[in-house]
Amino acid sequence: MKCPYCGKEMAVGYIHNHSQPVQWLPNGAMPSRIKWTITDNGVPLKNKYKFFKENGYIAEAFYCKDCRIVIAPAE
Ligand SMILES: [Zn+2]
Repeated sequence: MKCPYCGKEMAVGYIHNHSQPVQWLPNGAMPSRIKWTITDNGVPLKNKYKFFKENGYIAEAFYCKDCRIVIAPAE
């Protein structure tokens, strides 16, 4: 993915979360207290669950070190 700010190629990586899918929440919203669930007004990122390797959820994310920005696609 090209960085939308500078146009350079972004590094591919991930954001990890242990027992809940990685999600974006609006200000004021609380994450669910129940494991493996998304809050009603949460926006899940593209998650994969990897038990053995990362032991939790990982969401694909791209990083531009020049602009210091992370972009993560949503479901
Ligand atoms: Zn950039």
